[in-house]
Amino acid sequence: MKFQAFGLKEQLLANIEAMGFRKPTDIQYKAMRPILGGDDVLAIAQTGTGKTAAFAIPAVENLMRSQRRLHYTGVRCIVMEPTHELAQQSGAVLKNIVVKTGLNVLSIYGGVDQAPQIEQLQKGVDILVATPGRMFDLCSQGYLDVSLCEILILDEADHMLDLGFIGDIKDLVRRLPRHRQTLFFSATINEKIKKLAYSVVNKPVNIRISPKDMVSRNVTHSVLMVNMDEKRFYLERIAKEHPEDRIIVFVRTRVRAERVCKAMERVDVKAVCMHGDLGQKERNIALDKFRLSEVQILIATDITARGIDIPSVPFVVNYDVPDIPENYVHRVGRTGRGMDKGYALTLCDPTEEKETLKEVEEFIGGPIDRMVMEKIEREATLDFSQANKDHDDWQSLIYEEEARRAKEKKPFKGKKSM
Ligand code: ADP
Ligand code: MG
Repeated sequence: MKFQAFGLKEQLLANIEAMGFRKPTDIQYKAMRPILGGDDVLAIAQTGTGKTAAFAIPAVENLMRSQRRLHYTGVRCIVMEPTHELAQQSGAVLKNIVVKTGLNVLSIYGGVDQAPQIEQLQKGVDILVATPGRMFDLCSQGYLDVSLCEILILDEADHMLDLGFIGDIKDLVRRLPRHRQTLFFSATINEKIKKLAYSVVNKPVNIRISPKDMVSRNVTHSVLMVNMDEKRFYLERIAKEHPEDRIIVFVRTRVRAERVCKAMERVDVKAVCMHGDLGQKERNIALDKFRLSEVQILIATDITARGIDIPSVPFVVNYDVPDIPENYVHRVGRTGRGMDKGYALTLCDPTEEKETLKEVEEFIGGPIDRMVMEKIEREATLDFSQANKDHDDWQSLIYEEEARRAKEKKPFKGKKSM
């Protein structure tokens, strides 16, 4: 099956080819026809399977077909994204898709001056990609005319609805024309969110790809039992044993992100953090540095990294087990994107994080493979660490700790592989 089979306009096909897409992915194959037919769609497909293009291509085709633009200066299609980074990223994909179609795309998000955004909006925008905060702001200030908006798209739909924007979204929907199309896309969804989504639309077509296995089949993932205070040695070792590979590391809190970043810098592993305490400019700089491989490691909290698509990132390390089980799926989904394969390792403290891990495994519907860690391997990892070479006292501290554990009959041991 090729893109040609969907009866898309020539220019659109040329743009898809220029993006290097040879054939549709599963979700694109399944979602495009109902969207082209004007249906409302709720689509769930694993991370990295090309959901952006799955809504963007048919939405652009529909806009090209309807040609309402002639006398209208409002917005014709709204794509809602939970974060600034995703608004930029999806905006960039859409810009590639609309090349020479006569349609324009604008990404708006908070944290930057709104005046230029307003100026653009007043000239008329075909496709607006926006974070909800900034968009509802501009809406309430009267800068956003949605009276003829034909298509509303919620990407990362579960997260968007969960963020408490449902009231605003309902208000928005009320102001859209009666004849419109609403699309929801995500990698995860639960019953509560599904109900919310249904409350906004009319009998959407439900599309689900591989619902049984939530983790993308391109991702091999496993767990390694590691004491909390030794995690950084393992991260250092992974980084130094794969110097050519970029790694995205997830941590639970902003403070931890900074701490892990400093720990890596101390042992000469180049790292940057991305979390909600940083300004937009700093977040962009961090992401760019990582994209351009100026640093090896990107350390992120859950929110900032949802949906982020950086090709050729072979490793994800969950430095902490995620508190919210579905975030596991989104985190490990930062690797193994498109046609790439990826590996995700979760470092789990055998006592503190045991329960959280259990919740993750319940959510994804099965146990995660355990990496077996022999005692000798652990010692090798600690020996490997530059931190331990630089600070002899570290080594002795750890051995002391080991002696203490031995006395308590709680030696470190990786769990048996399942
Ligand atoms: P998702 O939103 O499902 O997590 P994205 O839309 O971010 O995934 O796409 C993941 C990657 O797959 C992107 O780098 C994108 O360029 C690539 N991709 C999407 N569709 C295709 C296709 N038909 N052929 C090849 N690569 C594709
Ligand atoms: Mg996406």
